[in-house]
Amino acid sequence: MKPIAKIAQKKETTPAPSAWEKKLQGLILDWYGKHAREFIWREYADSHNHFIPQPYLVLLSEVMLQQTQTSRIQEKLPEFYRTFPSIERLSEATNAEIIKAWEGLGYNSRALRLRDCAKAVVERFSGIIPSDYEELLSLPGIGPYTASALVAFAFHKDIAVVDVNIRRVYSRICSVLETTADTMPEADCTAFAERIYPKGKASAWHQAIMDIGALFCTARAPKCPLCPLQSVCASSHQLREAVRIKKQEPTFEGKPNRIWRGRIVQILRGLEASEWYSGEQLYNQLFSASLFSTTAREQWLLEILTTLEREAIVEINTDNRQRASKTKKQDRARVHSGEYASQGASSLNSPAQNTAQESLQKETSVYSLFLRLAS
Ligand code: SF4
Repeated sequence: MKPIAKIAQKKETTPAPSAWEKKLQGLILDWYGKHAREFIWREYADSHNHFIPQPYLVLLSEVMLQQTQTSRIQEKLPEFYRTFPSIERLSEATNAEIIKAWEGLGYNSRALRLRDCAKAVVERFSGIIPSDYEELLSLPGIGPYTASALVAFAFHKDIAVVDVNIRRVYSRICSVLETTADTMPEADCTAFAERIYPKGKASAWHQAIMDIGALFCTARAPKCPLCPLQSVCASSHQLREAVRIKKQEPTFEGKPNRIWRGRIVQILRGLEASEWYSGEQLYNQLFSASLFSTTAREQWLLEILTTLEREAIVEINTDNRQRASKTKKQDRARVHSGEYASQGASSLNSPAQNTAQESLQKETSVYSLFLRLAS
């Protein structure tokens, strides 16, 4: 328990909200009371229609919201919840089970971290999601934003919640900004976030800011003429759209690796638990059974599969890999001894040599592997 003197001292140093802050709080809470977006993770109510946050559902929604649109989550969350109706059931999920259930949500490693988080909750907290910020932060896959969101939305406790969207809205309200890319300094934003939310209403407040950020104060084209905060916002009606430099991401043959990875996982999702998919089938499916198999494609595919294996999303049949590695050594020896040359592949880059080399690649790389979702 904190000494009374310290509490009294803290009360004295907490500044009272200014008239502008009071007006802002009133506008935001009024607007939210009338226009809050309806989401299933906000809907739980008891028989007296009192809102009861369900921490498990809030946890699922917050992890899903990290990189997926709300409309997609509205659609997928009920399905996922039916498959894993409790944190205990989720904690027992195999990699393959959870990756299958995560279909359509993208970034499969998030699903594995969510399962690991459920496991830790069951093992360390007897299946009860903690309401303490530091304890939440100690769970796998839970960062500062998700921990604070859970404290506010699942347990209705006082805490400042700041993500990229909330920071954008706060920045524009507080500072006269010129372009849509400008934000206030992080330290100023944190101080404002701590001070501005009405104590006892952290959940409604932060959900309201998120709704306003999604409906009006969007990243590229803020709709100031429609925004409920235009009368109190420092940047209202004056933001120029910033020229955005598109983030570079690794691509192969014109498509982001992220899309290729998604396709591979999608193909493997269709398998029964005991089935394996051959590397050759996968190659042919990805490249439409092209006759022109290339070393570059095979090497690239092998790298992607190795990464998926390292992330525990895909399992590669090790026996076949060992066999492949032995075959590779044998084949190298055969190439050195001229065995392939004797099959008509004696000149550099001749079609015959290419065929022999491709046959060698087939034996020694992706073609030798068997795959499935990690169990
Ligand atoms: S008035 Fe414009 S800039 Fe200000 S919060 Fe609303 S949408 Fe954002």
